[in-house]
Amino acid sequence: MTEPFDAVDVIRTKRDGGAVPEPALRWLIDAYTREYVADAQMAAFAMAVLLNGMTREEIRVMTDAMIASGERMSFAGLGKPTADKHSTGGVGDKITLPLAPLVATFGVAVPQLSGRGLGHTGGTLDKLESIPGWRAALTNDEMHAQLKGDVGAVICAAGSGLAPADKRLYALRDVTGTVEAIPLIASSIMSKKIAEGTDSLVLDVKFGSGAFMKDEERARELARTMVALGADSGVKTTALLTDMSTPLGLAVGNANEVRESVEVLAGGGPADVVELTVALAREMLRLAGVDADPADALRDGRAMDTWRRMIRAQDGDPDAPLPQPRETHVVTAERDGILQRLDAYDVGIAAWRLGAGRARATDPVVHAAGIDLHAKPGDAVRAGQPLATLNADDAGRFDRALEALAGAYEIGDTAPEAAPIVRDRITA
Ligand code: URA
Repeated sequence: MTEPFDAVDVIRTKRDGGAVPEPALRWLIDAYTREYVADAQMAAFAMAVLLNGMTREEIRVMTDAMIASGERMSFAGLGKPTADKHSTGGVGDKITLPLAPLVATFGVAVPQLSGRGLGHTGGTLDKLESIPGWRAALTNDEMHAQLKGDVGAVICAAGSGLAPADKRLYALRDVTGTVEAIPLIASSIMSKKIAEGTDSLVLDVKFGSGAFMKDEERARELARTMVALGADSGVKTTALLTDMSTPLGLAVGNANEVRESVEVLAGGGPADVVELTVALAREMLRLAGVDADPADALRDGRAMDTWRRMIRAQDGDPDAPLPQPRETHVVTAERDGILQRLDAYDVGIAAWRLGAGRARATDPVVHAAGIDLHAKPGDAVRAGQPLATLNADDAGRFDRALEALAGAYEIGDTAPEAAPIVRDRITA
C-alpha cells in the first residue's frame, strides 16, 4: 500500500512548533500501530511533543486515533448507568477496592479495568491477588455477567485489545524520557478509559512527592486536559485534584492494603482513606444521576456485602486469612515531638524494596511485604515509640528499605498545618 504521508514531515512540523493536521496525525498513529513508522521516528515525535506541546485539537485527534487502534467495549446492554474511576497513581492508594463495591451498591455498574504496580506506586491487581483464589483475568462475557447481575462491580485486568497504539507508545516513552508530556499522558490515559466504554468517569489526579506529577499546577493542567477529552468523546468526566505528599492510610503494600480496605468497608479505617473514598463515590454517583449519600452504605454494611459478592464472583475467598510476613522490623521515633512530614515517595520506594512492588514487569510481588504506619503527620510521638513496621519475607531486604526511609520522617515541635486531601474539583 502507498502511504499517504511521510513520518519525517510530521516530525518536522512538530519539531518546528507547528500543529500537525488531523489526517497526518491519524495516519501517524495508525502507521505506528502497523509498525510502518519506526520506534526511532515515534520517539523523535514524542520528544517534539514534550518540547513544543500540542493544541487541544491535536490532543483530541491523537486520543481518538489511539482509541481507533483497538477494540471499543460497550456496556449499553446492561440496563444501568456505568461509572469508572482512574487514579494517576500514588502510595497507599487502595481506594479502588472499597470504591467499586460502594458505588455498585447504588445500582451503578462499575467496570474497573486495573493495572499492576511498577516503580514506587502499587497496583490494584497485585493487592487483590493477596486474596486466596482471586482471579484478575476475566473474559468480556464474565465481565458483563458480573456487572449485570447482583454484584454490579468488577475489578479486573484490561485485555490487550484496548488502545494497542498506547501500549507501544507508552513503552517507548518510558525509555526515551518522554513520559512527562501532558498531551501524551492525557491521550494515553483517556484513550484507554474511553475505549473501555463507560458512561461517566471520575479522575483522581494526584500531585505531591508520591505522585507521578509532583507539581500541583501541572497536575491541574493535566486534569483540565483530560476532562476536556472526556467531554469531547461524550463521556461525563470530572476530576478531583488530590494531595499525595504523604501515604494514603496506614497500610502500604499488598495484603495489608486489602485488610485496610476491608476496615473501610466495615465502617472504620483511616479518616483520609474514608474521606477520599466517599468524595470519589459522591462524584461517580452524581455523574450517574443517583442522588444518595455513599457514606451510609459504609456504615450499614451494604458496601461490605457487595465486596464479598464481588470477591467470590472472581473465585476469591473473602474470609480466607491474608498472607502474613515472615520477618518484621520496627522503626522508632528519634525524639519527642509532633510528626511534621512523612514523605510518600520515600515510603513507596521502601515498600517496593521490601518486595511489595516489582523492578521488572515480569517479576512477582511478595503479597505480605510492605509497611504498616503507626503515626501520620500531626500525631504527637515520644522518643522510642514505633513509627512503622516493615514487613518482608527476607530480613536481607530491611537495610535498603531503611536507607529509603532515612529522610522520610520529620519531627518538630509545632503541629503542621492541616489541609484537606481533595484540593480542587475540575469539571467540563
Ligand atoms: N498512565 C498511563 O496510562 N499513561 C501515561 O502516560 C501515564 C500514566
